[in-house]
Amino acid sequence: ERAEWAKLVDAPSVSKDGQHFEIAANIGTPDDVADAVKQGADGVGLFRSEFLYMSSDHLPTEDEQFEAYKKAVVGMQGKPVVVRTLDIGGDKPLNYLPLPEEMNPFLGYRAIRICLHRPDIFKTQLRALIRASEFGPVEIMFPMIATLAELRQAKAIYQECKDELQKDHPGLGDNVKIGMMIEVPLAALYADQLAKEVDFFSIGTNDLIQYCFAADRGNDAVSYLYQPLNPAFLRLIKHVIDSAHANNTKAAMCGEMAGDQLAMPLLLGMGLDEYSMSASSILRTRSMMKDLDTKECAKWANDAINLCYTADEVEKMVKTRLGLD
Ligand code: PEP
Ligand code: MG
Repeated sequence: ERAEWAKLVDAPSVSKDGQHFEIAANIGTPDDVADAVKQGADGVGLFRSEFLYMSSDHLPTEDEQFEAYKKAVVGMQGKPVVVRTLDIGGDKPLNYLPLPEEMNPFLGYRAIRICLHRPDIFKTQLRALIRASEFGPVEIMFPMIATLAELRQAKAIYQECKDELQKDHPGLGDNVKIGMMIEVPLAALYADQLAKEVDFFSIGTNDLIQYCFAADRGNDAVSYLYQPLNPAFLRLIKHVIDSAHANNTKAAMCGEMAGDQLAMPLLLGMGLDEYSMSASSILRTRSMMKDLDTKECAKWANDAINLCYTADEVEKMVKTRLGLD
């Protein structure tokens, strides 16, 4: 099987009926790019930039960040690199930036909430990203956006950085695409409006599931509520994808669900454009995709949402149709 997959390294990510998609890699550092390329990634769909901050003993300077992003972009040889802006707080502390003790860190001061409150930190990162875009396609993605106002604020700070840089470098950053993660339930529900103001969505199912089911993603006692195949959750995912497409916005997914073999046919059936996952899952997913018909999968997705009532029922249905049982 692995030998068969290996042949797909340079192949496009295409379904049986010839529809093109993208299968991208999730990375933590620029050093991960080599493996992403080796596994045939169509791009980097999620560069978790917080690792740059967590592996340093000080806030990384603009130049330090610029070098890291440039390295990732150059390494991807023209394929797009989606960099998520700083996503600390929650389960990810920074010892040189003490954050207040919180009762509910996952509901607290984290990610874009910190960046909007500390534009000095945010701007350093955005400037570095805009500068790196001179070396290849860079896309910037904001994490944990809950409201349209937050999105607009983030975009305004980005615009400020771009205006400043363009004084000396006209046109710099004009090709940068701006997107947001869909990982807060309100943003998912409001996707039809949010889609008008971004180039792409990337659905962060790890957090979106945690917040939709109100179940801590790290707590084993409630892990039974990690249900990517729950029909109600699938309905929400479909709403996000449909809302994106109604506005010419790209729909990507970068949570664990994107690399889930049972979820993939359903996501394909809903028309998800990009699947971002750990590099080691890319070839298996590409191989599976080439045997799936998108129209058939659209039926499966509709049946999962309209005929099934539980995650178990959806799982059984997909397994049966894939011939896995
Ligand atoms: C997610 O929430 O699904 C996601 C991709 O981000 P992280 O796992 O880093 O929170
Ligand atoms: Mg997340």
